[in-house]
Amino acid sequence: MGLDTAWARAWVSRSAEVVSEHKTELITLDREIGDGDHGENLDRGFTAVLAKLDDLPAEARPGDVLKLVATTLISTVGGASGPLYGTAYLKGAQAVADADSLDADAVVAFLTAARDGVVLRGKAEVGDKTMIDAWTPAVDAASAAAQSGAGGAEVLSVAAEAAERGAETTDALVARKGRASYLGERAIGHRDPGAVSTALLLRAAADTASAS
Ligand code: ADP
Ligand code: MG
Repeated sequence: MGLDTAWARAWVSRSAEVVSEHKTELITLDREIGDGDHGENLDRGFTAVLAKLDDLPAEARPGDVLKLVATTLISTVGGASGPLYGTAYLKGAQAVADADSLDADAVVAFLTAARDGVVLRGKAEVGDKTMIDAWTPAVDAASAAAQSGAGGAEVLSVAAEAAERGAETTDALVARKGRASYLGERAIGHRDPGAVSTALLLRAAADTASAS
């Protein structure tokens, strides 16, 4: 089967589900070190993407699905995370270009371009207590897995696992970007909401890939 358009559509549907399931958790995390809107923002965004998915033509490629996610998140999510996720999916879509399906190398190219897009836009580094603390370990682990011969679904699974561990590392950090940076040391002990949502989205990608 492979990571084709059916998979990309399934990833969007699963993303909308997990974001909705974890909405309250993301709101709570963002309330602790931000303004409490992250769960609401993302839920609104993925609900909007889901509504537009049926309008895509039958011949749409994975890159078209990812581009739809990008433009919809940019116009509906708002906050810091809207433009950041929008850029991630847009750069990721450009990286996969017009491929009919994604192999392991294309998955790595997608993740790398998405992460680089977030960095370009938000200027955060690993250790700043942002979504980059989930994205970068995911990219590194995915790249290593692809180099040792893993397939696309396995690469996504390894990436999701690394993003989850990366999100956990944000507990101990002081935030140096975004609203949480206003809190100084008081942010310690709280997990970054954007790192958690990144891990959820990558887990959704991996779960739908292993089922396809
Ligand atoms: P806002 O902070 O505007 O309310 P959200 O609550 O939707 O936006 O998103 C907050 C998340 O955005 C943070 O948890 C963090 O992961 C991410 N974030 C904020 N600023 C940056 C940045 N400069 N670079 C990377 N990620 C960032
Ligand atoms: Mg917020």
